[in-house]
Amino acid sequence: MDNKIKDDNEPQVIFEFEFLDPQQEKIEQYSCCDLCGSEFEFTHVTNFVDRQVEEQKECPSCQIKFHKQLHALQ
Ligand SMILES: [Zn+2]
Repeated sequence: MDNKIKDDNEPQVIFEFEFLDPQQEKIEQYSCCDLCGSEFEFTHVTNFVDRQVEEQKECPSCQIKFHKQLHALQ
C-alpha cells in the first residue's frame, strides 16, 4: 500500500468509508478524485476536546471536500 501520508504525529485512525463501491475497490479510487484524477489533499484534524479525529480530503481541482469522523482517540 502506497501510503504517502506519513506523519510521525499521526494518531491511530480507522478508516470507515461506507460509501466504498465494491466495483471501485481500488486504492486509486480512494486517494485520487475519480472525476478529474487529481490526488486528494488529506488533512487530519485532531479534536482533543472531543477525542475525535476528523479526516478531511479535498480535490484541489474540483473543490470537492469530504469529511469523515474517524476513530476516537484512546
Ligand atoms: Zn477532482
